[in-house]
Amino acid sequence: MRATFTLGRIAGVRIGVHWSVLFIFGVVAFGLAQGRLPQVYPGHSPVLYWVAGLGAAVVFFASLLAHELAHAVVARHNGVAVDDIVLWLLGGVARLKSEASSPAAELRIAGVGPLVSLLLGGLFLLGTWLLALASAPRLLVEVTAWLAGINLLLAVFNALPAAPLDGGRLLRAFLWWRTGDRLRATAGATAAGRGLGWLVIALGLVMFLRGGGFGGLWLALIGWFLIAAATAEGRQAQLRGVLAGVPVRDAMTRDPLTVPAVLPVADMLADPRYRYRHSAFPVTGADGATAGLVTLDGARQVTVGKRGTVTVGEVMVPLSRTTVAGPDDSLADLLPRMEPGAEHRVLVMDEGGLVGILSLSDVSRTVTWLMNPGRGR
Ligand SMILES: [Zn+2]
Repeated sequence: MRATFTLGRIAGVRIGVHWSVLFIFGVVAFGLAQGRLPQVYPGHSPVLYWVAGLGAAVVFFASLLAHELAHAVVARHNGVAVDDIVLWLLGGVARLKSEASSPAAELRIAGVGPLVSLLLGGLFLLGTWLLALASAPRLLVEVTAWLAGINLLLAVFNALPAAPLDGGRLLRAFLWWRTGDRLRATAGATAAGRGLGWLVIALGLVMFLRGGGFGGLWLALIGWFLIAAATAEGRQAQLRGVLAGVPVRDAMTRDPLTVPAVLPVADMLADPRYRYRHSAFPVTGADGATAGLVTLDGARQVTVGKRGTVTVGEVMVPLSRTTVAGPDDSLADLLPRMEPGAEHRVLVMDEGGLVGILSLSDVSRTVTWLMNPGRGR
């Protein structure tokens, strides 16, 4: 699940939003402003309902975020670095850089999310009661009650034992603890995820056919997302299993051809050495150290008239924005950080010196080789 846009950072964790969350936002605000609120509290201006609906959607959003931040903070406490948090249709995902080191760590990281939702649900419930007691405006009581309900629902839904939900991770932690085999545990949790996905789709379709309308289709859509996410997680786990123990050096291209940063773009494009075999090259600075990565596409973007004066150093992706790995790093751990495209090559550095370059096609070639049953031992 990749973020469509970024909201900012909280506690150093980048908060991203996937487009599908806007859908929830819209559904929540619309459902309250046009449906529930005018029903239970009629006779007021549409503006008031919309303000309440949008306000509830924002707090709902913040609740989702609190749930994910809890995952991220506990992950860090358990020695797992956090890439970012992405909010999406089914809540959110805190994307972890690596896997939990033990079933107990997995249990803590996964379990805290539903606990936070449960706690928020409880607090909103308490708030509803206090507001009602204080004879606060009905609209406010209604919105608080809705927030209590949705957070409790989130806690329960996320605790369902099926990947990619938190409950799926709890199930995985349990299976991992029982069997000692993380890969088999993941297979179990993702199979449960696909099963739950089909169940939810079937339920949604039955609801729709019985005249449940939009709610049924909504459920079916959630089921479809569940299946897709469980399948992707299963594939990723399988890949990790295949790549387990394989260091970056076994897949990288050694001693790649480099380009001096001072070279004019025209000279690079005219040089046959740079023209054919590869689409990206490491760039060396004046001091001989690696300064970044240049792609042929990037170089070609310079207008023809300027190629004689613009240097490779001016069009390269600087080292600070390039993914760098060590030759002994685990390929399985690096994989989630890799992206397709020439500008996403990984530079492999050892003690500050460049030793290789790695692309996703290098990784898939390695996977094919490892999965080939005829390769012998
Ligand atoms: Zn969660």
